[in-house]
Amino acid sequence: MTAPGRPTRIMTGKSIVDSQFERAANLINLDQYMRHILMRPFREVQVEVPVRMDDGRIEVFTGYRIQHNGARGPCKGGIRYHPDADHDEVLGLATIMTWKTALMDIPFGGAKGGVAVDPKRLSKLELERLTRRFTQRISIVLGPYRDIPAPDVATNAQVMAWILDEYSSRHGYTPAAVTGKPISLGGSLGREEATGRGVMYVMMEYARDFGIPLQGSRVVIQGFGNVGGHLARLLSAEAGAKIVAISDVSGGVMNEGGLDIPGLLAHAAARKPVSEWPGGTAISNEQLWTIPCDWLVPAALGGVINKETNAHTIACKVVVEGANEPTTPTADLILEQRGIPVIPDFLANAGGVTVSYYEWAQNLQQYRWTHEQVNRELKATITKAYVGVRDLAKQRGVTFRTAAYAIALQRVAEAERLRGN
Ligand code: NAD
Repeated sequence: MTAPGRPTRIMTGKSIVDSQFERAANLINLDQYMRHILMRPFREVQVEVPVRMDDGRIEVFTGYRIQHNGARGPCKGGIRYHPDADHDEVLGLATIMTWKTALMDIPFGGAKGGVAVDPKRLSKLELERLTRRFTQRISIVLGPYRDIPAPDVATNAQVMAWILDEYSSRHGYTPAAVTGKPISLGGSLGREEATGRGVMYVMMEYARDFGIPLQGSRVVIQGFGNVGGHLARLLSAEAGAKIVAISDVSGGVMNEGGLDIPGLLAHAAARKPVSEWPGGTAISNEQLWTIPCDWLVPAALGGVINKETNAHTIACKVVVEGANEPTTPTADLILEQRGIPVIPDFLANAGGVTVSYYEWAQNLQQYRWTHEQVNRELKATITKAYVGVRDLAKQRGVTFRTAAYAIALQRVAEAERLRGN
């Protein structure tokens, strides 16, 4: 079933990942047996989660934790609460995490979790009980050297704090068991904005290499949550870009002169829809895709750039995937034919998991880094990954996505082989 305000998913999850995998596996002549290993998950856990609701009833929710690959280190990936969360979606996202951590060259594998629930229907206490019960049911496969959850769609630092508390009540205080925690429980400075900041760093490199200066450039962003909100703020404050349109689930707003992002953030913090911001003209979610721009950043949902709705008409110089899997494989080919480059999700939005790695490292070191150090390390790590992708794409005449996959596959395959597989 499609959630209200959520476009029908044409092709997403596992199917997207599979078709893109093949292109990259062919590029590096990956052995068939290794394709078999890397295509399939290491371990899948499905649990039923009974939760006592405030009115005394018990409701049962289905949850998943899928560990796609742990050859390069403990599995790492977020937990999302969404009515559409299902096995295929969670597996697709877990697989992306393997490629993302490998591409960033951080010592993690890939995992993802999800609970099929509409969190907006739950009270805070119900959400806490759900989180604790879910953690109890999957805790056997978690741990700082085994699998480390983080926030994803509709989960946040508070949810991570409950997971930490639940896990620690069994194993003793273990801050490294989860990332994206509140700072006061061992979270990292800079973690909250890290994904948006990482997207900006990648855009800065691309801007320099391909002659699309960020200063004064026109940016359109779908989504004004963690990724879209921080990205909009940073791009306008630190890179001089003009955010000409942005949207949330209820619609969007545009201003040819550039939106006042601090004002819009304060407006959204008061729980008001973006489309009601007086500093621009209200637009529909569909209109957003028709606005000519230099940079188009989907930063909300999967499958939103597709053949059926917008791949033929999008009018931008570059698509930057802030969200996971926003472009379907067919749309990807259409954009390629139209000469519109795509900076793929697992390069562009890898800032979050990269700073999660720093958070984990700080917890294990029992030593806190400064915000400046976190940003400096993030810039170095994501820029190095970008340069590797750019160079391979040029050398082999392939898209950034195929090059990024090829680098990641190569690294994971090498780890598998060295471990004897
Ligand atoms: P979020 O829940 O904080 O924000 C999502 C935003 O998208 C909200 O503004 C929401 O209103 C908007 N939205 C929802 N449906 C929409 C629609 N139909 N049209 C327009 N806008 C819509 O989520 P987030 O953490 O910003 O994550 C966004 C995407 O980025 C997801 O795909 C997520 O998997 C991916 N991602 C997030 C992180 C992270 O660190 N938060 C890291 C990597 C990837």
